[in-house]
Amino acid sequence: MEKIGDFVLKISKRHNNRAFKYFTRKRSTQAAAAVQQDLQHELEGIKDAGTWKGERVITSKQGPTIHVAGSQADILNFCANNYLGLSSHPEVIEAGKKALDTHGAGLSSVRFICGTQYLHKELEDKISKFHKKEDTILYASCFDANAGLFEVLLGPEDAVISDELNHASIIDGIRLCKAKRFRYKHTDMKDLEQNLKDASSCHKKLIATDGVFSMDGSVAPLPDITRLGNEYGALVFIDECHGTGFFGPTGRGTDEHFGLEVDIINSTLGKAMGGAAGGYTSGPKELVQLLRQRSRPYLFSNTLPPPVVACASKAFDLIIQNPDLPKKLLTNTVRFRSKMTDAGFTISGDPGHPICPVMLGDAKLASTFADDMLEKGIYVIGFSYPVVPKGKSRIRVQISAAHSEQEIDRAVMLLLKSAENSKLSIKLTVKIEMLKRCYCLHEL
Ligand code: PLP
Repeated sequence: MEKIGDFVLKISKRHNNRAFKYFTRKRSTQAAAAVQQDLQHELEGIKDAGTWKGERVITSKQGPTIHVAGSQADILNFCANNYLGLSSHPEVIEAGKKALDTHGAGLSSVRFICGTQYLHKELEDKISKFHKKEDTILYASCFDANAGLFEVLLGPEDAVISDELNHASIIDGIRLCKAKRFRYKHTDMKDLEQNLKDASSCHKKLIATDGVFSMDGSVAPLPDITRLGNEYGALVFIDECHGTGFFGPTGRGTDEHFGLEVDIINSTLGKAMGGAAGGYTSGPKELVQLLRQRSRPYLFSNTLPPPVVACASKAFDLIIQNPDLPKKLLTNTVRFRSKMTDAGFTISGDPGHPICPVMLGDAKLASTFADDMLEKGIYVIGFSYPVVPKGKSRIRVQISAAHSEQEIDRAVMLLLKSAENSKLSIKLTVKIEMLKRCYCLHEL
C-alpha cells in the first residue's frame, strides 16, 4: 500500500505542475481578440467625446490639504465629500485601529450567517436614534441600500414616483422592482401631483427623491413633497448622502432642515460620516425586518468590516457631542458663497449647502479652469455635458468644516485670478483689489 508521505508528495507535485502551467499560460482566442477590439473602440469613443474620467492619485490622507502624485506642493482640497473633516480625524482613526485589534479585519461572512457583532447592532441603534426612526439596517454602501430597498417594499400593484434627476443608485434600485414607475420633472411639484393622480389606482405609493442633489447643491422641496404625500396617500423616501451629519441645525439632514418628517431615509457612511464606506436604511421596524429577510445586497454580500463600523460610529459620536461642527461648515459655506457672489460669479444651489457649483456655462472653460486651479494648488472638478445639461458646465467646489478662513479666502482669490486669466466670458463686477479691501482677504 502507498504510504501517506508518498501520496502527499505525489499530490503536491501534481499541484505544482498545474500551478506552473496556470501562471505561464496566456489565453488568446479569436473571440477574446474581437472583444478586445470592440472595447478599445468604445474606449476611444469615450475619449473622443471628451467624457473620459481620469483618476488623480492622492498620496496623503484625505483632508483639507492633500498631496497628489506628480506634485510636490500641498494641494488645497475643495472636491471631497469630507464635509465635516472627519475622514482623517484622529479619534475616528483611533476607533478604527482599536476595532481592528479587538474585532478583526472582517467577518468572512454575510450578516445572517456569522457576520453580526455588537459593533454592528450598536451602530444601527445609534443611527436610528440620530434620525428618530424605529430601526436601521446597514449595507456595504448606500448604492446597495438603494439597490435593495424598492424591490422589497414595492410589488407590481404598487407605484414609485421618482424625481428625474435622482442619483443613479436610486434609478437602478427602481429598475429592479416590479412597481409601476412614474417620473416627475426635477423638483416640479405640479408634475409630481399629476403623477400622483395618474398613480391613484395603485396600492402602495412611494415618492423617491434625493434630499440634496449633488450636481446642483439644490434641495428637494420637502414641505411640498410631504404635503402631496399626505394628500395622495404616498410614503416619502429621501436619499440623504449629501445631508447626513451636516445639513439642518444639528446635522440630521434635509428633514431637519425643513423641520418635518419623512418615512424612509437611506444614507451613506462614506461621505461626512468618517468617509470610509457603508450605507443604511432607517425607517419603520417592519420594513427593516423585511429588508433583513429579503434585501439581496444585504443577504448576499459580506458584512461591513468592524474597523469601518467603528470609524462611522465614532463620527456619529463626534457630531452628537459637537453640535458646532455643522455650524462651522455653514459659516464656511456662507463665507465662500457670499465672496464669490460679490465677485460676480454665479453660484447655484441652496445658499446654506456646502456643494457650491460655480457656473461657467462653457464646457472647455470648465475643464481649463479646473486644470488651472490645480496648477495654482486648488483641487476642484469641472463638470460638463452629459453629467450636467448642455450650457450648464461648472466647477463644483465643496466646502468642509475643516477648511480654515484663510483657505476659503485663498480659493476665492485663485478662482478670481483664473477667471481674469481665462479672458473668457465671466463678467466680474468686483476686481481682486476691491475684494481685498472689502473683506481683508488674505494675501496669496
Ligand atoms: N446616493 C447619492 C445621492 C450619492 O451621491 C451617492 C454617492 O455618490 C450614493 C447614493 C452612493 O453612496 P455610496 O458611496 O455609499 O455607495
